[in-house]
Amino acid sequence: MNMRQWLEENAGRRYGNYIGGEWRAAAGDKSYTLYESALPEHRLGEFPNSGYEDVELAVQSAHEAFKSWGSTPGAYRASILHRFAELLDQHREELAYVLSAEQGKVLAESLGEVKRAADETRFAAGEAARIQGETLPSAVPGVRCETLRYPIGVVAAIAPWNFPIVTPVRKIAPALAFGCTVVLKPASVTPWSSVRIVQLLEEAGVPEGVVNLVIGSGSEVGDPLVAHPLVSGISFTGSTALGRKIHISAASRFARTQLELGGKNAAIVLDYENLSDAASQIVSAAFTCTGQRCTAVSRVIVLKDRAEELIGHLQAGMTAVKVGPAWEEGANMGPLINKSHYQSVRQYIDIGLEEGARLVTGGDRIRTDDPGYYMAPTLFAGVKPEMRIAREEIFGPVLTVLEAENAEEAVNWANSTEYGLAACVFTNRLSTADRMIHAIDSGMIHINHGTASQPHIPFGGVKNSGFGPFSIGHSNQEFFTGTKVVYTKGGGE
Ligand code: NAP
Ligand code: MG
Repeated sequence: MNMRQWLEENAGRRYGNYIGGEWRAAAGDKSYTLYESALPEHRLGEFPNSGYEDVELAVQSAHEAFKSWGSTPGAYRASILHRFAELLDQHREELAYVLSAEQGKVLAESLGEVKRAADETRFAAGEAARIQGETLPSAVPGVRCETLRYPIGVVAAIAPWNFPIVTPVRKIAPALAFGCTVVLKPASVTPWSSVRIVQLLEEAGVPEGVVNLVIGSGSEVGDPLVAHPLVSGISFTGSTALGRKIHISAASRFARTQLELGGKNAAIVLDYENLSDAASQIVSAAFTCTGQRCTAVSRVIVLKDRAEELIGHLQAGMTAVKVGPAWEEGANMGPLINKSHYQSVRQYIDIGLEEGARLVTGGDRIRTDDPGYYMAPTLFAGVKPEMRIAREEIFGPVLTVLEAENAEEAVNWANSTEYGLAACVFTNRLSTADRMIHAIDSGMIHINHGTASQPHIPFGGVKNSGFGPFSIGHSNQEFFTGTKVVYTKGGGE
């Protein structure tokens, strides 16, 4: 069955929240309609429009479930996660249809995202067997000194709309592995993927109350969830402004946060021989997910004497990007998620033109007979570091090229935004690479490599791109567990 046939049979249903092991309507039976990204008139389903009463029930149920889940053996928690990973594999196509329908990304990307979610789940399952404290030498004979790790309790997982399968899984899987319980709030424009994830967690045998799903808006669901005294930690992925607001609220009661925020990621092209290879990696890093990626490359900083040649290669790579709906044969870049996001990206094109940047290619909506908001891959050259298009996160298929005199200027420009998520450096010299690794303020640095991450490596940013322990990798232990120090004197009499 293909995507359109599958949607024909499965779109239009009504879904609930998942609280205490039960699917239930929001308080007052409030709901909203979700529409398809590429076909904005096409109804995908009805989803709960929840409020503080639903959040209260969900947090209470997660709190209750934590009493037994937190002390369930790690091996058992891991076995459930392994079953969940199997289910993600088994339902890969159908999950990709749901994801592409609500988010818009092409099917190949959605299939890749579901596989990535399964891979991250398997790594997280292994973490349940790697929760480590320390044994320390004692200064007093007969006394043993050690630290142990314990799960922090109820965790709020708040996800954005750009990776609606992998982001919730990236939070839920480690939470469960380390013994925490979860209340998930997905983005309100991509709730369907979360419903399917939670259905599969239920099928995998997650006990009632361990994972709860509350669907609704940021103000009605997000605010009471973040403020709830029984929520011990908030794992949030989204915009910097909201991350700051959430952190301030959490800090007032000493709840911890894991924040993955915006980016303005630079690719710095220095003394690298193969410019066509650099360009193809940059194009892929810039236009995957229609540029709606926190780690999308959105600035290219190239040495002046190599700029013209690199721009030629970038243009060639961009021309080969085929824009279309998820289900179209050969399409490798989907629409922007919706009209309001299109308008926001479109506004940045005007800003770039007003600022005096040179539009090399793209810059407008394409496939205007289609109802989705397709945009041509866009390239601006002659961009200066002080321009807004070089500093602000656009979150769309827009790439800017800045020409630097030398490597020092390139580094200064790379570091001149408020962000510090991911950066790439293209160089054939190990000494240059070493210098750049230390000089660039960024959570992740890729040498001769686009901004693709792996399913077991810590992931996160510095400056306004992130705060708290990195996600994905073993660094998650710092977020999901606390430390207790134990002194034991032998004998006991
Ligand atoms: P967003 O507007 O910040 O929203 C993120 C989530 O927060 C959504 O679920 C949103 O709910 C919720 N929310 C809204 N108001 C809230 C409140 N007062 N309290 C608690 N939660 C609230 O981000 P987005 O537009 O979905 O995603 C794009 C942004 O995410 C970009 O800046 C991007 O760089 C960032 N991002 C970062 C990473 C990373 O790993 N660093 C990864 C992906 C995306 P509603 O949907 O209901 O508004
Ligand atoms: Mg938003």
